[in-house]
Formats: sequence, structure tokens, C-alpha cells
Amino acid sequence: MNLQELLRANIRNLEPYSCARDEFKGEASVYLDANENPYNAPYNRYPDPLQWEVKKRISTQKGVHIENIFLGNGSDEPIDLLYRAFCEPRIDNVVAIDPTYGMYKVCASINDVEYRQVLLNDEYQFAADELLQATDEHTKLIWLCSPNNPTGNSLNPDEIKKTLDNFNGIVVVDEAYIDFSSQQSFASRLSHYPNLVILQTFSKAWGSAAIRLGMAFASPEIVQVLNKIKYPYNINILTQQQALDVLDNAERTKQWVETLLKERANLIEELKKIPLVQHIYPTDANFILIKVSDANSVYHYLTDKGIIVRNRTKVSLCLNSLRVTVGTPEENKILLEELKKYNN
Ligand SMILES: *Cc1c(COP(=O)(O)O)cnc(C)c1O
Repeated sequence: MNLQELLRANIRNLEPYSCARDEFKGEASVYLDANENPYNAPYNRYPDPLQWEVKKRISTQKGVHIENIFLGNGSDEPIDLLYRAFCEPRIDNVVAIDPTYGMYKVCASINDVEYRQVLLNDEYQFAADELLQATDEHTKLIWLCSPNNPTGNSLNPDEIKKTLDNFNGIVVVDEAYIDFSSQQSFASRLSHYPNLVILQTFSKAWGSAAIRLGMAFASPEIVQVLNKIKYPYNINILTQQQALDVLDNAERTKQWVETLLKERANLIEELKKIPLVQHIYPTDANFILIKVSDANSVYHYLTDKGIIVRNRTKVSLCLNSLRVTVGTPEENKILLEELKKYNN
């Protein structure tokens, strides 16, 4: 794969915006270069455009080199930037598994890029060959998500590897739920696959959905492209500070994950005893997809009790399925009690 050839011509030739904080990077005593107000420290100053402190901490935490890390305003940002970097509107296309996370398709529409979907099998797995058959010379990205949303299962790593080995474009593996998974992250394989982009996020295991911080791990060449086209100061200082704080308390995150995994196991055991639950799909994430007799009816019943789950009945292969996030022991107990009382 030749990355420069894969890029859109306008991005390849782009002269990026150069901000004051890009031009001078050292320590100084008098900053008169960015038209900032000298008062109201520290919020008067533009934040670090490349977030070095946060990346250093992530690098240690995840075992990924700093030059392999891109940070965005949630995973949403790298998802959108990948389209803008590689997909020529109305000409190029992308291929994705179906069902999966909805943002890949929305971003394709926003960027006027054809979105090709390949249905998973009834175990919610995919075959690399089938996915590759859906590609053509205009396919720039393949979207994989493992553990997958809304199904909850991890994708077969051998099929992911086969896709990476045989596709002449970018393969994105969204690992938003990897901290809850029994599977290994693909992050350790970055040096082996120059066409791999891994997405992770602070929104799930790290308990920080509100700060909007997403990570993309990829080859330095791909990271440079994303940095070139992002908004100069895409991660604000409040987010950077909060990220440092949560990374300094990694032990707390580990405990949350342990608690949630125990709760997940307990929730599954209890759900099995409830007659309206027809099937519980295997999960490697902090949510459980369950099949019920009538998803719309159960969904509205729960909503009336003040309990909100995600109704996925209209999603491919998810007829009459509800996606339930694992909550605190108290929240899970309330859910189970109400489900036990349901009768139609
Ligand atoms: C929740 C989720 C994300 C997180 O998105 P952010 O923009 O980082 O909050 C990413 N991918 C998948 C599949 C998700 O379910």
C-alpha cells in the first residue's frame, strides 16, 4: 500500500495551517505571538495542539509509541477525518460489516461517500473473503468494530488479520470496548500493519464520555495526515487536564472494569431466568444484546418505569433485540425486578 497514492489529491497537496504554538515549541517567559489575553491564566493560552503530555501518558498506559497516537474530539473526529483524508466524494467508497456502529454510515453520508455493507452471519461474525469481494479499486476504507456494537461479540481475529493482509487500503478496527474484552487489542500489531487504524476512546471504560476524547493508533504516516487536517486546537485544555487526571488514576479504571465484568456475569445469569428473554447473545463489552418476545413493547414498558435501554429491533439481524448497558448493582437490580414483573 502506498499511503500517498491512497490519499485524496487535495489532502496530499495541502499546505496545512500553521498556528503560533506550532512555530515556537520551547519554553519562554514572554508570549506575545498568538494575540491571547495575558490575563485569566491558564485558560487565556491556546492549548498544546498536539497534546504531548496526554499522549506521553497514553503511550505508557497502552504501550503504543507517541508517534502512533492521534487524539480527537471523541472517536467521532478520527472517523470523520478518515473519510475526508481518503475518500473522494461521489467517487470512492467504503466497506463495513452490518450491523455495526452507526457513525461510520452517517459520516459516509455527510461526506457523500458510498457505504457498502456486508451482512454478518448468524453468529455475528464476518468472512474476510466476503468483505474483500465487496471492494473495488475505489474502496479506500474498511470498517470493523471489535467488540462490535450493538452485537457485543468480538470479531474473529484471524479474519481481521486476513482483511489487513489482503486489502490495499485502510482497515479501521474500532476497539471502543476493548477494555471489557477477553481478546487482545490489535495495538501490538501496529508495526506489522501499515494500513491499520485502531480506534479507542475515553467514553466507555475510562468513564469520561463528557470530555470527548478519542484515540486513533496508526502508522506515523497516517497519524501525520490526521494531524495535518484536524482543527489546530481540537482538544481543549479542560479535556487535556481531565484526561491526565483519569490516566493518573488508571487503577480506578481497572476496578470499574472488574466491577462491571462481575455485574455483567450476574446480569446474564439473572436474565436467563426471565421468561420474556428469549436469547442472550455472547458479549465481550459492557452491554448485553438480548432477544425478547416483543422489543417495542418491552422497551415502552421499561421507559414507563423510567428505565431506558436501546431498542435495536430495526437494525439488521437484531429483530426484537434490546441492547442493555451494564450499570451499577442497584441499577441492574431495578432493571431485573421490572423485567420479572412484565407480562404481556
Ligand atoms: C461508544 C462508541 C464509540 C465512542 O465514540 P466517542 O466519540 O469516542 O464517544 C466509538 N465506537 C463505538 C463502536 C462505540 O460504541
